[in-house]
Amino acid sequence: MLNDIEFWKLLRKELLPLRPSQYDITSICNLTCEGCLFFSGDDYLGHKDAKDLKVIEAFFTGESARGVRYGYFGGAEPSLAEKKLVIANKHIPYGVVFTNGIKRLSAEIDYRVHVSLWGNPERSRELRGADIMTKQIKNYRGDHRAVFVFTLTARNLDDIPYIAQTCADNDLALTFNHYSPTTKYMDFIGSGAGADQYHITSTATDNLILSDDDLRLARDSIALVLQQSGQRVLYDNDFNNLVHDPAGLYPDAQGAGAITRDCGVLLTSSLRHYNTDLSQSTGKCCTPNIECSGCRLYAQSFASVLARATRDMRHPGGQQRLIRLWRLWCELFLNDDRLRMDLSSSDGVNLPLTSIAEHPCVSHQFV
Ligand code: SF4
Ligand code: SF4
Repeated sequence: MLNDIEFWKLLRKELLPLRPSQYDITSICNLTCEGCLFFSGDDYLGHKDAKDLKVIEAFFTGESARGVRYGYFGGAEPSLAEKKLVIANKHIPYGVVFTNGIKRLSAEIDYRVHVSLWGNPERSRELRGADIMTKQIKNYRGDHRAVFVFTLTARNLDDIPYIAQTCADNDLALTFNHYSPTTKYMDFIGSGAGADQYHITSTATDNLILSDDDLRLARDSIALVLQQSGQRVLYDNDFNNLVHDPAGLYPDAQGAGAITRDCGVLLTSSLRHYNTDLSQSTGKCCTPNIECSGCRLYAQSFASVLARATRDMRHPGGQQRLIRLWRLWCELFLNDDRLRMDLSSSDGVNLPLTSIAEHPCVSHQFV
């Protein structure tokens, strides 16, 4: 088991600087999830999926030459355009694929694989158009790349113990996401405008948005799961408290359309997001349809919390907290066993401050 110094040295040697970017792989999906962050808005329109493998190869060669070492691969559903991922993996060594898990990704793809759950089979049918859990588990049971990601909504909080137990029974790691409404979803529940296959069941009084009480319930339910043995829940109490704060993670962005300045994944000249036609996105982030004020998307929230922990590292206990968060990040997002470990192993060894603060990756947005 690596102590903090060994962990940090290995992280710097092998991974940092991360230099990540984000790629929408395809605009095709085999589900119709209510309020889907990809389809709930116009941003995906007007981009024809790149299919020419030579063009795709040249694109990812260029991304590698640009220094990208970590890719976030989403979609719609990236498993439906797997050849692109195989090519990406030849050029970008680390990454995570966000998938619904219906189609198992080839073992050739050496990335973390995040499989989205939206609750028990009945909920899945209601919110996604199909019960896919049996298939998801069959596809990924025993696959060391997989982390199951349970998206919490106002309609499925009762499922937390069930989902945790199901994942434990199948030796699957679990983490949590939070439904974060898009602008179009807010309009839909407000007036019924824009009803389509991604906007069906939600109303002003019965929708997916987590109320303050829901957030507290979710936090307490996850805290209970974290205490239980036999589970592989990739979460910690610090993040659990922060992400469930009813005040939200972005108090500087209140109201429709407001954009936060304190998010860890705002696009920059280096941190880029590419559409399915390989054009560079000009949105605020990789999920431009989402309202910042209600954003609790897990990867994005984790990036923001990590960026803030870096800023606060000179506070008492700041270094230990930062290293603990990086350990959790590696568990969640890195398909590299050398940096995976029991989270309780963080031993509180003080590092020289410069070894963290002056690192070009962590002194800037990291994802
Ligand atoms: S599986 Fe993902 S991309 Fe497809 S509809 Fe559901 S949330 Fe959207
Ligand atoms: S990821 Fe950041 S910029 Fe994008 S919607 Fe969420 S808070 Fe806003």
